[in-house]
Amino acid sequence: MADLLSKEKIILAIEDEVSIIKFLRTYLEAQKFYFLSADTAEKGLELAEQEQPQLILLDLGLPDLDGLEVIKKLRQWTEVPIIVLSARGQERDKVLALDLGADDYLTKPFSVMELSARIRVALRHASGKIETAPIFINGELKVDLANREVFLKNEAINLTPTQFDVLAVLVKNAGKIVTRQQLLKAVWGESYTEEKDYLRIYIHQLRHKLEENPAQPQYIRTESGVGYRLQESI
Ligand code: CA
Repeated sequence: MADLLSKEKIILAIEDEVSIIKFLRTYLEAQKFYFLSADTAEKGLELAEQEQPQLILLDLGLPDLDGLEVIKKLRQWTEVPIIVLSARGQERDKVLALDLGADDYLTKPFSVMELSARIRVALRHASGKIETAPIFINGELKVDLANREVFLKNEAINLTPTQFDVLAVLVKNAGKIVTRQQLLKAVWGESYTEEKDYLRIYIHQLRHKLEENPAQPQYIRTESGVGYRLQESI
């Protein structure tokens, strides 16, 4: 990813754990990002306004203000990608963060590989390049959004309109987490956001059509307690 993506890009981390800041600084500066950090929500919000970073890494457990409140405040004036840094087991907070407008999350402790994958996806989605690519290809899976066609190993796969709609939402967010609520809302509408069983059924059907081993999906991954993520590459 290094040079093209990081060129003149500012990443702000709002995080009070010194060891994580150290880890982020070392890695992101090596990737030629301009790295800024704040150890309180107040300082972070101030820096976000002053420096207009291209991406924010946000700890949910800050000393002065809940990270969820920080997302609300940021979303009042900016669409900057926000990747939440959360502790293991905080599924509820992750869902809340995503529904408030965070773009993705990393569960501590995370690796350099996970960090760079999330940053790459978030920056690309923010640049709008995903929306203009109507054909998604990953390994042997090819999805043509414009023509509503799906191919696996070059063979056309028949999907029902709803199955395709579910897949299309995942494709448009490839690499990014999509919460169950976001999927339900996008495919079935606002009043269906609690119908988690609908989604389970359609994901199950899609996996049976697209995955070599539906029990161990390579394309449509489950993000436990939160939602689904379509792998960008395998
Ligand atoms: Ca913390």
